[in-house]
Parts: sequence; C-alpha cells; structure tokens
Amino acid sequence: MDCEHAHLRVYEYLDGELTVWKRRAITRHLDDCPPCAQGFTFEIDLRRVIVSKCAEDVPAELKARIAIALGIIEADEPVPE
Ligand SMILES: [Zn+2]
Repeated sequence: MDCEHAHLRVYEYLDGELTVWKRRAITRHLDDCPPCAQGFTFEIDLRRVIVSKCAEDVPAELKARIAIALGIIEADEPVPE
C-alpha cells in the first residue's frame, strides 16, 4: 500500500468500515511510514476531542454510544472521562 491509498483508507479505518485485512494493511503502512502515522494520530486525537467536547452534557450511555460509533472504544470498554 502506498501513501496515497493509506490516506484515503484512514478515514474508513477510523469509521470502522474496513475489513480486518485492510485494517492490517494500513497498520503495516503506518508502522513503516512516520508521516502517515503522524496524520493518523492527529485524526484520532481530533475525534477524541470532538467526543469529549460534545459529550460533556449528555448522558453517559449516549457518550459511550458515540465513542463506540467512532471506533474510539470497544463496546465492552469503560467510557474514558
Ligand atoms: Zn505513507
């Protein structure tokens, strides 16, 4: 996988729309390509901020559902405060 494909796939990766094999291919590319890995980390951080800011005044259950929908936590994981 080259950088261009990795960039295109990162959003799908974050949205949980990729198969296990495609996710592995991206993970492998990110391991070998610091610039892509940096961009990827930024996207994750951005989503964490969105979730924490948007979830301040909503019930914990909804907060958890948003975090799960964004792929930040697994369904059986506790919600990060
Ligand atoms: Zn790359």
